[in-house]
Amino acid sequence: MKITIDTDVCTGHGICESIREDIFEVGDDGLVHLLTTEFTEDDREDLMDAVDQCPTQALRLED
Ligand code: SF4
Repeated sequence: MKITIDTDVCTGHGICESIREDIFEVGDDGLVHLLTTEFTEDDREDLMDAVDQCPTQALRLED
């Protein structure tokens, strides 16, 4: 499982961070960064929520 971020469209709203602050962090550069790339099946639902709720569709979840 892998999350990719389209930094061209991320606007740093931080909605993803509010869903999982242990995974997503908006940096001083106004873009979101991943705090980990190690995910388990238990993370899948939250990651899917983050993808769905990102207002700019910057996140993509791949298997
Ligand atoms: S919710 Fe989307 S636009 Fe907002 S910080 Fe996360 S990836 Fe970027």
